[in-house]
Amino acid sequence: FYINPSSVCGFEITNDPFLFPATSGMASSKGVALVTGGARGIGRSIALRLADDGFDVAINDLPGTEQLKDVAAEIEGKGRRTHISTGDVSQEQDVIDMIKSVVDTLGGIDVMVANAGILLMQKVFDTTVEAFDRTYAINVRGVMLCYKYAAAQMVAQGRGGRLIAASSLAGKRGSPFLFSYSASKFAVRGLTHVAATELAQYGITVNVYCPGATDTRMLTEMDEVTSGDGRLPTSQAFANNTPMGRTGVPTDVANVVSFLASKESGFITGQSISVDGGSYLD
Ligand code: NAD
Repeated sequence: FYINPSSVCGFEITNDPFLFPATSGMASSKGVALVTGGARGIGRSIALRLADDGFDVAINDLPGTEQLKDVAAEIEGKGRRTHISTGDVSQEQDVIDMIKSVVDTLGGIDVMVANAGILLMQKVFDTTVEAFDRTYAINVRGVMLCYKYAAAQMVAQGRGGRLIAASSLAGKRGSPFLFSYSASKFAVRGLTHVAATELAQYGITVNVYCPGATDTRMLTEMDEVTSGDGRLPTSQAFANNTPMGRTGVPTDVANVVSFLASKESGFITGQSISVDGGSYLD
């Protein structure tokens, strides 16, 4: 079968052979990466690592996210081009606009990192339809939209690509309070399996990273809930039960994404790579 990227995307794509024109004074780029949720935490760390690896790196986050400017400045400080877009990954038009603006300013997309996600802690009996739907809208629909529109752009470019998304340890094994979140992270792996099989013919690989508890604001917010409930493990207790004896740091995840984004990972697709100090054993 053949995907017509223009009709899939609903916007015109140019097949510019000079996708990454070297800007004067800058070393030539390895390609263009786009990281959603790039303002802080794991997304920020991934964006900076991909810049270190030689990619021009576009970052996206919700409108009004001030830290985006700081991350963009750090990317530029590494001698790489960058681009900021704001938008909500759960909204189709926002994702279309995001992809288009990256293509317009940086010349294409080679690596899509669908990292943005939310975690709303709710017990089974307390779970609301609103929280469930919001979790799915951002964590699942957001990844679906990023995969769809980035893949269409990559197919149009005709040089393969990398789709990478955030799943979680909770996407392999459920935990208390993570009813909606865990289901959403399992779903991301389902999207990934299908995309990997369909897109292999275009040289596009599709993989997810599955962090365990990682030291970001998301973990701090979880601790605020778990520390108030004696039956639930705090991140420190979780760390103590992890074979490696610690929680992760964002660079642990960025190191894996660096490899998944590289040419060297070209025969790896449809995989869910745990970055959790041994919490989940396949
Ligand atoms: P974080 O909360 O520190 O950062 C998430 C970023 O995503 C924020 O900048 C936020 O503004 C942005 N974001 C949220 N909703 C968005 C939307 N609708 N559109 C665009 N941007 C949006 O989280 P983190 O810990 O850095 O997590 C990054 C990813 O890794 C998430 O998908 C998360 O589920 C996953 N993850 C995190 C952990 C952990 O322990 N921190 C563990 C496993 C998986």
